[in-house]
Amino acid sequence: KRDFPKPASTRVMVVVNQKGGVGKTTTTVNLAAALANGGLKVLVLDLDPQGNASTALGIDHGPGTPGTYEVLLDGVPLVDVVVDSPEASGLQAVPATVDLAGAELQLVQMVGREQRLARAIRAYLKDHDVDYILFDCPPSLGLLTLNALVAASEIIIPIQCEYYALEGVSQLMNTIQVVQRELNPELDLSTVLLTMFDARTKLSAQVAREVRRHFADQTLGSQIPRSVRIAEAPSYGQTLLQFDPSSAGAKAYWRAAQEIANRGKAR
Ligand code: ADP
Ligand code: MG
Repeated sequence: KRDFPKPASTRVMVVVNQKGGVGKTTTTVNLAAALANGGLKVLVLDLDPQGNASTALGIDHGPGTPGTYEVLLDGVPLVDVVVDSPEASGLQAVPATVDLAGAELQLVQMVGREQRLARAIRAYLKDHDVDYILFDCPPSLGLLTLNALVAASEIIIPIQCEYYALEGVSQLMNTIQVVQRELNPELDLSTVLLTMFDARTKLSAQVAREVRRHFADQTLGSQIPRSVRIAEAPSYGQTLLQFDPSSAGAKAYWRAAQEIANRGKAR
């Protein structure tokens, strides 16, 4: 199934939501794997000190492993820390280690503290052909997430089909507007993805309807079902697409990736 259109230029997408446990990491790694399986060149940057995306992508992220910390804090070129993910051919990633937990505080004192990731990405793209770059963010709107918002051209917000789903989204929208105004006028909220949809509950349907009304243009048609298989995949150090490609969750992520690829950047 190698049929995803190649974008005219690199799409740099940040997966963001300051709430934890809404499916950011699951979304990042499975969209990345799907896009790579669709024949595209994909790079994932893990920006969460917990390193869950690194685990799911099967790459080393033990203490001392060079990764996003070194890029942000020491100015190490991205090319020095990019590694191949065994999850799919064409899929590469940059790991996050526990060192990143201290990065927020260390960044505060640095020159151009919001632009460090953007600069690293720009330098890398000068001589590397990448179709998609995806950032997996920590559950906060601190300097790590801010760096990702400044470096990205598009935003993907995963929204969990649960109580209080939209709580916090207005704070996120405010942050996005400030970044657009002050730091990155190119930034476009292009994509909203409904996650953990439970077809058995009225609540999920209600939340989905509300989100689709609120983000009519951005919400993908494909929504991700709540599924045990999705929850199990990370403990095998795998994306769902590798772990159980025929599962409903894997198919939903595949369709979501296809929609993203087909929509292209132009909106
Ligand atoms: P975040 O990165 O926003 O904190 P995760 O992607 O890590 O969220 O997901 C939080 C937890 O929920 C993880 O244990 C993950 O395996 C699980 N999970 C994610 N998506 C689903 C889903 N659609 N169905 C069931 N469990 C899920
Ligand atoms: Mg996460």
